[in-house]
Amino acid sequence: MISEISAVTHSTAIGHLFSDHPPCGVFESDVIVHKVLEYFASNSADAVIITQSGLPIGILTVKDIVRVLYHCDNSGLPVKEFMTTPVHTFDASKKISEVLDEMQNSSYDKIVAVKDNRIVGIIDKRHLLSICYTQLTPMIKHEYNMVHSLMGMVGEGERGLLKMATTDALTGIGNRRLFEEIFQAHQTLGRDYDVTLFLLLFDIDNFKSINDTFGHNVGDSVLKELTALVGRSIRKSDIFIRWGGEEFAILLRYSDPITVMKIAEQIRQRIDKNSFETIVHVTCSFGLTSILPGETLDDVFERADKALYRAKSDGKNSVRMEIP
Ligand code: GH3
Ligand code: MG
Ligand code: MG
Repeated sequence: MISEISAVTHSTAIGHLFSDHPPCGVFESDVIVHKVLEYFASNSADAVIITQSGLPIGILTVKDIVRVLYHCDNSGLPVKEFMTTPVHTFDASKKISEVLDEMQNSSYDKIVAVKDNRIVGIIDKRHLLSICYTQLTPMIKHEYNMVHSLMGMVGEGERGLLKMATTDALTGIGNRRLFEEIFQAHQTLGRDYDVTLFLLLFDIDNFKSINDTFGHNVGDSVLKELTALVGRSIRKSDIFIRWGGEEFAILLRYSDPITVMKIAEQIRQRIDKNSFETIVHVTCSFGLTSILPGETLDDVFERADKALYRAKSDGKNSVRMEIP
């Protein structure tokens, strides 16, 4: 099974990732340390590239600067005295997967992309994966057809079938099959990186009685309206799918569980406060868990389901988390 994400990393050039970003800090080697210090003070970067006659020859990180200043004030000396050399550059046209492969076996952490001797950007291993996730996931979702045509894997007719097979017919969002493939890709790609993924499972409360009281069509319209509402409440890079029936799943990437709990709680409140077109008030119960590297979807799902069960038995319309 070829995962969507590795398909994209195999077909996308590293330079593509930097197109939306301002170029990184670049300093000539005889610039004094103080100038770079000023740059770090007003930018979120943690490294700059040092050049000689425009060509990259080294890297100076925040850590290097701390070391320089620790014992005495050397900030008036040129940066070439303290930079790390040599600098390993990648041509911007190189595919992300090739860069990742090369980085795997190397001791350096920073990747510098160049195009026609011009620096396009600098990134470390961890951020590369993070950008892959946030920039490529929307591509995977919205340009699903393009990815497959790029891969030359399937023909015109089969692409339509593939899309059908991974889309939920009623709500238009992805289905369990799409989720399984993307989950697998994340587990494979994220194995060696510090990426925290979370699974948020949620289920509409008392949906059977909504159907029984107002009819199946009203139930269907609630499912569609709820999907649109939740879709507007998450980021493009989050994977939101209908797991089945009145149960949904979202794959989220955040730095810590407290932030994800807040996001889940926001979604819960947004549904609770929403005035639905047909029956006005609908609530959902949520189960959240973090995903450990190498875990199978069955293991993760079981834990999220346990948390969801607790939310139901604690009175519904609430969020519960299960720690691995
Ligand atoms: P709980 O709060 O414990 O989750 O109770 P519930 O009534 O939501 O859960 P239950 O599993 O008893 O019922 C789920 C219902 O969802 C039963 C099923 O007919 C209905 N359902 C599943 N898929 C669809 C659908 O596509 N459209 C409609 N209208 N109903 C659906
Ligand atoms: Mg259910
Ligand atoms: Mg339910």
